[in-house]
Amino acid sequence: MAYKFVDNYREKGARKKLVKELQLKGITDENVLAAVGRVKRHYFFDETFWAQAYLDKAFPIGEGQTISNPYTVAYQSELLHIKNGDKVLEIGTGCGYQTCVLLELGAKVFTIERQQKLYERTLKVLPHIGYKAKFFLGDGSKGIAEHAPYDKIIVTAGAPLVPQILLKQLKIGGILVIPVGDEKEQKMVTVIRVSENDFDKIVLDTFRFVPLLGDQAW
Ligand code: SAM
Repeated sequence: MAYKFVDNYREKGARKKLVKELQLKGITDENVLAAVGRVKRHYFFDETFWAQAYLDKAFPIGEGQTISNPYTVAYQSELLHIKNGDKVLEIGTGCGYQTCVLLELGAKVFTIERQQKLYERTLKVLPHIGYKAKFFLGDGSKGIAEHAPYDKIIVTAGAPLVPQILLKQLKIGGILVIPVGDEKEQKMVTVIRVSENDFDKIVLDTFRFVPLLGDQAW
């Protein structure tokens, strides 16, 4: 995939339209909308497909994976209630678009990807376009215990259940956002760690993600 990092008036205009579309679809957090308005999603597309970059659609990024559709990225970001300086673990780096939105929200991001080619590409692309995160290669279904605890954890692939090991890596007051279901569809689930051993779980809308593969997953 040959990326080109030029932001023309066409892409700027398309980004503004996308933000309005997300508002109409129910995203209300102004910080999230502003973050989506700043991240150049076309940087993650081959130039041939730039016309697709600001449609609210998922798109192939290689290795059988997809960049999530902007509504899903905004929806998960909104549920995380990111505060400036929050330490966030992202499981499923993919092309790094969601990572950039989290960074725009002021998070310190630790992101893990199991596909080596995606990991290597994103590790190079993000710093090149001005985004700094900590990148890891491996099975994120187990979290990254060495860097725990996290204020927030986001899983960007569909899991069969909430991995308990991830809950243990949340700070008290921390939030996990994870799609849970079968291969066809998943419900967005948020879990808040209210005390050492108490967790509040909320089940929300239905989505369709690629599967979370690994030890604590499919
Ligand atoms: N948020 C990403 C973006 O903006 O491009 C899209 C992520 S894509 C929907 C899901 C990603 O999760 C894929 O890149 C996939 O390889 C990765 N993945 C699946 N299982 C994983 C695991 N156990 N650990 C880390 N990454 C995993």
